[in-house]
Amino acid sequence: METIVREAHRKPPAGPEALEHRNIRQGEFWRAIPKYRDVDEATFLDHIWQGQQSVKSPEELLETVKDLVEPSFFDDAREGFRRAPMAVRVSPYMIASVDWTKPYSDPIRTQFIPVASTLRPDHPRLVLDSLHELEDSPVPGLTHRYVDKALFLPLNVCPVYCRFCTRSYAIGSDTDVVEKVSLAKTPKQWQDAFAYISSRPELEDIVISGGDSYQLAPKNVTAIGDALLAIPHVRRMRFATKGPAVMPMKILTDHAWTDAITGVVDKGRRLGKEVVIHTHFNSPREISWITQKAMNVLFERGITVRNQSVLIRGVNDDPHTMQLLVRQLGYLHVHPYYVYMHDLVKGVEDLRTPIQTALDVEKFVRGSTAGFNTPTFVCDAPGGGGKRDVHSFDYYDRRTGIAVYSAPSVKPGKHFVYFDPIDTLDPDVVERWHIPQVAEAMIAEAVAHAGGARSYVPA
Ligand SMILES: *Cc1c(COP(=O)(O)O)cnc(C)c1O
Ligand code: SF4
Repeated sequence: METIVREAHRKPPAGPEALEHRNIRQGEFWRAIPKYRDVDEATFLDHIWQGQQSVKSPEELLETVKDLVEPSFFDDAREGFRRAPMAVRVSPYMIASVDWTKPYSDPIRTQFIPVASTLRPDHPRLVLDSLHELEDSPVPGLTHRYVDKALFLPLNVCPVYCRFCTRSYAIGSDTDVVEKVSLAKTPKQWQDAFAYISSRPELEDIVISGGDSYQLAPKNVTAIGDALLAIPHVRRMRFATKGPAVMPMKILTDHAWTDAITGVVDKGRRLGKEVVIHTHFNSPREISWITQKAMNVLFERGITVRNQSVLIRGVNDDPHTMQLLVRQLGYLHVHPYYVYMHDLVKGVEDLRTPIQTALDVEKFVRGSTAGFNTPTFVCDAPGGGGKRDVHSFDYYDRRTGIAVYSAPSVKPGKHFVYFDPIDTLDPDVVERWHIPQVAEAMIAEAVAHAGGARSYVPA
């Protein structure tokens, strides 16, 4: 009798999909790319080679992938490069991770290589710097929005440039369509930022972003680390870098950089302060044996790595893809921390999703693995409200695509609005968005439904 009951309660063995995240890409996959056909492992793992060989123009792209794609794709990319708000820079590791038999639907191509034919009309309410980082900035290159934490932007370069970058107002070189704002790039500006942090005893937590900490010279990693660790009230630091996702080999071959980060982490630990790395994987296709090896190095050294993804149409907005990404990151001991709603950035509407997509994906992902490896889905409220749990809207009208948030401990008494991409709305609503007074009335109505304050902070 007892055994019968036990049998009935026995969980059936998991199907192959439960183990899919352990299928990590192996081998010399880069040799499928014409330009890298004769590149050996030592060369491909060399971070200097990766930097030098990065693709920055349609001509370099053509020269690299040659006949793997139709000539019409290059014409499309040429026009895409011309219209993009971000400069283009793609590492060979990323080029080799694209499935060039399907460049249009490939999640890596989608993130880094603009093509004109997939562009969608901008929502009429989009702006540069929708997060108002410049407004909350007491000195150049420092954003102090929350009480106890600040964002330090010491440089404006990255190992790759993401089409969807929220700092397209500042990151990378000027493009045909955007002239960039300057961040703190000189030692004097860094000193001013440290002086400000020292003067504010409430600041316990500093995010070092940019740009990307990967591009900091090792001596500057140490200098910034030492300067911040020396401030008595600073208790936590995070070096933000997309590097592990787009150029993981640097951790294996740039010993000076990896040792510099390790040095700051170890020194912090001796001082009772936490120093971690925050990275930015968006797609399971970014992960290979090289990633696994690099993450093992950081894990052995006791360095905590957390991940912040952006929810991107065609990249990770389907529940199974996000579940796979989350499980795979957990498997590599990279903690999925956040999945962000795509910011209201100009020129990349093909990449945004409605709030509803985040709600659906979150529901599916929660329960897939350990709770501490389950990301929180957040919307960084346009206008400077800060990050809000996507579910916590005060009102969401799926027809007009308006979600209203409030942030009592960040900007009390104010409402913030997020807009679903315009091409996902019904044609009659799209028409209303294009008449400024009607659009304003739609927003006012949504804000009124949200209750409390009747005004909102425009993005
Ligand atoms: C995201 C962010 C932080 C860090 O916020 P967490 O929720 O702690 O990750 C700090 N300052 C600014 C301006 C930010 O945008
Ligand atoms: S790595 Fe980060 S800062 Fe750099 S382009 Fe990408 S999103 Fe922007």
